[in-house]
Amino acid sequence: MPFTSLGLQPALADAAAAQGYATPSAIQHAAIPAILQGGDVLATAQTGSGKTAAYCLPLLQQWLSDHTSKRRQLRGLILLPTRELAIQVGATLRELGDSLPRHPKVVVAYGGVSINPQMMALRGGADIVVATPGRLLDLLQHNALSLSAVSTLVLDEADRLLDLGFAAEIKQLLDLLPPYRQNLLFSATFPPALRTLATQLLRQPQTIDIPASAENGPAIRQRAIEVDAARRTMLLRHLLQSENPERVLVFVASRHSAERVSGKLQQAGIRAAALHGDCSQGQRGQVLADFKAARLQVLVATDVAARGIDIARLEMVVNYDLPRSPADYTHRIGRTGRAGASGVAISFVCADNAAHFRLIEKRQQIQLERERITGFEPQDAAVSTPLVDGNGGIKGKRMSKKDKLRAAQAAQS
Ligand code: AMP
Repeated sequence: MPFTSLGLQPALADAAAAQGYATPSAIQHAAIPAILQGGDVLATAQTGSGKTAAYCLPLLQQWLSDHTSKRRQLRGLILLPTRELAIQVGATLRELGDSLPRHPKVVVAYGGVSINPQMMALRGGADIVVATPGRLLDLLQHNALSLSAVSTLVLDEADRLLDLGFAAEIKQLLDLLPPYRQNLLFSATFPPALRTLATQLLRQPQTIDIPASAENGPAIRQRAIEVDAARRTMLLRHLLQSENPERVLVFVASRHSAERVSGKLQQAGIRAAALHGDCSQGQRGQVLADFKAARLQVLVATDVAARGIDIARLEMVVNYDLPRSPADYTHRIGRTGRAGASGVAISFVCADNAAHFRLIEKRQQIQLERERITGFEPQDAAVSTPLVDGNGGIKGKRMSKKDKLRAAQAAQS
């Protein structure tokens, strides 16, 4: 089910694909069409379900379709409880917005830091503001912005907003907003105080209830990083350090690579082990137990050895070597984001497998933005040279014999 079938314009669907969102998550499936209809929405959704994009994509579409004013006018206001969430939502909006033909100006504001840079950022107006309630009131007192043109208000993690004692600030802000507007309320739980607020705030809302369950989430974010083949282990070490995931499953193509990569990580002081077909049953059991108990941070495995691993909260999967078939890609990335937690699947794209990765993307109906990490920019030629056919499309529409064979092998094993 593509994003366009939810009523999103191709530009927004492309923006979602560039973020690695292959298909809409359950909350997106339910909330996006409801929000695009323009009415109020009351949604129960957990973090990790894809709820941020569920309201950001329609907000951006509304902004894109709004040709009424050339001047930057604040149309979308997102209130949320914490600085971390504000930064995260701001980043999502900007990343999605970057793929659009016009880029929205998004300003993020939260307390605990100097107000001046936020006032400066608001100069000349903003299209969408993401803010914690207290800081937004401060900014309003400084006449840094006006809420008079806001057409959509989002309350995200509304239960936590109330838990953190923001009820009075929200009430003050509601009085400053235009009476005719769309209200969207997202929350993981609905305690009585929130029900009261929802009743006051929302007009005949569409109610969406996405329970936390394996099939409703978790959202898996897919990333593709361009790197030279020879520098993959270094890049892996860098990612382990910069993102510090608790548990990572790294996929390699052979037993030999599994031993080599895990050995190098061990030498660098990382708690890593290899898992492949040559491991005895006893070794396998021990390695898996250590990984489950987080005594190991990294498991470097081949596809066959990794089958059947079921570990809750596997935050990251890395395709050190790309899978041979698109079916293997699906199996691999399905290892992350289990049990309601969100996960990330990172593929290393090198000169000699760039075309193969494009083929995987095509089969998966995704098109990931290629990332380059400072210090690891590829030097090998052809990492990002597109393989374009005479019709302007990407080559490899039909499966080659080799691919068919691989897919058949993968299906059998
Ligand atoms: P959230 O529930 O908004 O905190 O999102 C959790 C994670 O899921 C974020 O890292 C998003 O980038 C990612 N995400 C959101 N929507 C999708 C989707 N449709 N497919 C895959 N990943 C997604």
